[in-house]
Amino acid sequence: MAKVMAVNAGSSSLKFKLYEMPEEKVLCSGNAERIGWEDAIFGIKWGDQSEKTVLPILDHARAVELVVQALIDKGIIKSMDEIIAVGHRIVQGGKYFSHSELFNKDTEDKIESLIPLAPLHNKAHLVGFRAFKKILPNVTSVAVFDTAFHQTMEPQDYVYPIPYEYTKKYDCRRYGAHGTSHNYLAQKATAYFGGKNPKIISCHIGSGASITAIKDGKCVATSMGLTPLGGIMMGTRTGDIDPSVMNYLCKCTGLSVEEMYQIFNKKSGLLGVSEVSNDSRDIAKACEEGNELALLADKLFIRRVADFIGQYFVRLGGADMIIFSAGIGENSSEFREKIVDEIAPALHVEIDKELNKTIHGKECLISTPNSAMKIAVIPTDEEVMIARDAYSFYLKDNK
Ligand code: ADP
Repeated sequence: MAKVMAVNAGSSSLKFKLYEMPEEKVLCSGNAERIGWEDAIFGIKWGDQSEKTVLPILDHARAVELVVQALIDKGIIKSMDEIIAVGHRIVQGGKYFSHSELFNKDTEDKIESLIPLAPLHNKAHLVGFRAFKKILPNVTSVAVFDTAFHQTMEPQDYVYPIPYEYTKKYDCRRYGAHGTSHNYLAQKATAYFGGKNPKIISCHIGSGASITAIKDGKCVATSMGLTPLGGIMMGTRTGDIDPSVMNYLCKCTGLSVEEMYQIFNKKSGLLGVSEVSNDSRDIAKACEEGNELALLADKLFIRRVADFIGQYFVRLGGADMIIFSAGIGENSSEFREKIVDEIAPALHVEIDKELNKTIHGKECLISTPNSAMKIAVIPTDEEVMIARDAYSFYLKDNK
């Protein structure tokens, strides 16, 4: 039986999900957190059971040993041979990858060469890949890139108006992120249009957030930039701001560019403006209590998202569907209602507000028949896309 593992390795964590393919049945999922520490946490869920253990996990290789051991101990697999492929999420594929790729030496070298563009992520992904390779040396390993789906953008959508020499010499351009998610959502959307590809504005709004304009199943524009810092305001990230803010604030505060960059990434966005939290649930609560900065953060967030929807409506020459997904998009009916209220006067969209209130984390068409565009909530599933790609490489490999 074909079992495929989808892996998302971070600098101190390793998330995994095991699928039975081609049925796409989830057999188990879990996470090793605080890798590198004596009191790391290993959690696994299978069937209706779950377990969490605090133990030393000093490196990623140990985390992978624990994953494989747990699969056998819990009776999820009988032997390691049952795992035929492992798909690894890779945040930055740069200009090299417009689709998933077999994890060979060339792929590894290219991912390594892209570390300057995604220092924390790509380094961690390689550590995760090498740890799996050590323990499962003969399985098909596949790299699935967050940026690949966005490689179809035209130069006028991805080139920055900086001296072109920098674009060429340093590959400094828009790459986008969340591509696996936007691709999944675009594929799901076809079901609402008799299998045809609609023009979509896809809103992946979690603590990281991006919006993508999709036509004929391909990305034409996306809000994140060189890194996931760009685009709309997020939980802790600024999104797009005037580049001189960096220069000005470094002078005002005496902080270095690197320190200010960390603030733009980790202390800005909803958290920075509200001074309350990066979590939209806390912001909503603070708004109810009349906290003025929380109210401002909320309004700013809605305006930023609505502005991008308007921009992409024009970019697409009109759109057929808006999709809400990820933590906030899937769960917060208030957020969806506010966005629709903001764009409705121009875009003539309408949702069933009562129905919208009942939708949390499940797929549903929430627009009314009068709406100029369909509006849907679609939970994203990046892991299943990773498993699908890994499985299809396995099939090609073993023809
Ligand atoms: P990421 O994958 O970028 O870490 P997620 O897509 O998991 O983020 O989204 C996490 C965010 O979603 C949380 O910070 C919170 O703001 C929001 N969120 C999660 N659940 C809810 C909910 N029930 N209602 C409102 N917002 C929610």
